[in-house]
Amino acid sequence: MSAAQTHTSKYDIVIVGAGFAGLYALYRFRNEGYRVKVIEAGNGVGGTWFWNRYPGARCDVESMQYSYSFSDEVQQEWSWSERYAPQGEILEYVNFVADKFDLKKDIQFNTRVNTAVFDEAAGLWEIGCETGETFVAKYCLMATGCLSVPMSPKLDGIERFKGELYRTSSWPDKPVSFEGKRVGLIGTGSSGIQATPRLAAAADHLYVFQRTPNYSIPAHNHELDDDYQHDWKSHYPERRALAKQTRNNTLNAAGEGPGEGLSWDEREAVFEERWQFGGLGFMYGFTDMTSSKVVNDHASDFVRRKIDQIVKDPETAAKLKPMHYPIGAKRICVDTDYYKTFNRENVTLLDVKADPIETVTEAGVKLASGEIEVDILILATGFDAMTGALTRINPVGRGGQTLTERWEDGPKTYLGMAIDGFPNMFIVTGPGSPSVFTNMVTSVEQNVDWVADCMNRLETEGVQTIEATTEAVDDWTVKVGELAENTLLTGLGSNSWYVGANIEGKPKVFMAYLGGAATYSDICKSVADDGYAGFRLVSPADA
Ligand code: FAD
Ligand code: NAP
Repeated sequence: MSAAQTHTSKYDIVIVGAGFAGLYALYRFRNEGYRVKVIEAGNGVGGTWFWNRYPGARCDVESMQYSYSFSDEVQQEWSWSERYAPQGEILEYVNFVADKFDLKKDIQFNTRVNTAVFDEAAGLWEIGCETGETFVAKYCLMATGCLSVPMSPKLDGIERFKGELYRTSSWPDKPVSFEGKRVGLIGTGSSGIQATPRLAAAADHLYVFQRTPNYSIPAHNHELDDDYQHDWKSHYPERRALAKQTRNNTLNAAGEGPGEGLSWDEREAVFEERWQFGGLGFMYGFTDMTSSKVVNDHASDFVRRKIDQIVKDPETAAKLKPMHYPIGAKRICVDTDYYKTFNRENVTLLDVKADPIETVTEAGVKLASGEIEVDILILATGFDAMTGALTRINPVGRGGQTLTERWEDGPKTYLGMAIDGFPNMFIVTGPGSPSVFTNMVTSVEQNVDWVADCMNRLETEGVQTIEATTEAVDDWTVKVGELAENTLLTGLGSNSWYVGANIEGKPKVFMAYLGGAATYSDICKSVADDGYAGFRLVSPADA
């Protein structure tokens, strides 16, 4: 091991991750005068948008909103080309922001953090890396992402496959040619659904291996004209402020009332209007979309009828229709021509629930009914969401307690940002925050701002450690659970990554706060205003 590799460096704060969260945190903390280091496993900034380079990858929150609000200069200077920007453009944007504020000089790339240990005597975090380096800091910010650890699907024989094997979640940074190739795609969540039309257009033949059909809403993506952008840019401050007062940090014309009391025709008209408009706003037509069975059944049936209208072959349409779980119980998808793609001659949909994958072979995928030979196999099989990046580091807190021990029965946090027993460690958009139910760039900014304000106060008052109390963590976790219980998102058939159901052995707990982003933000503010209620603040004199 070289001298450089054993080097220990000391900072005020170490941030793990250089996605939207880590970059904004670096910007904010550095401006406050802290000595900051960001450690990033990849060799560039962007997080999600650095890793997920698969064909068709793009945001499904509109670009004018899925962007930083902290700098008016940035939002005035940058122009988006499409309603939903493609991955490459979002990655360019993130680099533009990083370069504009000279952020890269404080980021160490190609470095994976594998340990984080709290030294109680010194009151410091020791962040260990696979390179052998150690970074020591008073504060540790986990900006490690909700969807940053690919899950390893149980696919017998996968190591035998002799063709090209790709994962959407770590797509190579080089062109992949599909020309004249038979391509197999496993997984029909948002990633698989975005990739399908693009793969079908480029490959000789596309086989889509679908285990569970998903509900997908058309994006109606289009180029953004100058007038539209100009209009947004002239109203950014007030629109951003309004968005922060919504449930999901997005202006998506949320319906203000419940749908249950309306007639079938009235509800149908709202669904049709939202289908024609496109995007995630389909889920916000009524306030009771995920709590009223009547309204949810109607919306689910509406999408199924659309599938019947679009897909010409009735057998294929039947396979594509989600029948056994409510719309929204799995993250809905937003697509461009997904259902239509199954009308192409060169696309075959394989229902691997009815005809299971037995093994991957050297030449392809063997189903119970026989082998499908492919040249390229793509896994769009998802992530160990919300907790995966944190449990892999498995921080060690006070008394030698590990995170996985504390989270044995599922993740427990206070506000999704703090954990009892782990002083001076904060998580950005962690489990127990609204995170994945919102426009995440805005949620990231809210969390980072809250942590920065908190740190400023601690430093001004000479506080040594801040730590959530066990009572606050337990109460918050119960609250998060109760909010989810009152919806249709946790019941039978809701075997989604929201509840960790895609990972064997993961506790089945609904992981996001469903009270809405605006309410959450108000709660965070009142916690701070009350002198960090629910936290224990220790000054050297108390120790
Ligand atoms: P990330 O972007 O995930 O960044 C985390 C970073 O931490 C990564 O770069 C990772 O390499 C690094 N890291 C993790 N662990 C370690 C470690 N141990 N050591 C060193 N580095 C580490 N959200 C929306 O709101 N709208 C969308 O349209 C949208 N589209 C998405 C599309 C895809 C394909 C995916 C996967 C997610 C999407 N999301 C979307 C969610 C998206 O993750 C967030 O919007 C946002 O990018 C999260 O930023 P982040 O910085 O919190 O995390
Ligand atoms: P995902 O939603 O978890 O989907 C994974 C897919 O793989 C599911 O269809 C799953 O089937 C299937 N699968 C897993 N293991 C399998 C196996 N062994 N055999 C067959 N099929 C298997 O993952 P994702 O599509 O990557 O999306 C994750 C999240 O990232 C999204 O929900 C969204 O929040 C975000 N995202 C957003 C966008 C966007 O539009 N902007 C794009 C991509 C991702 P089952 O359902 O049966 O488990």
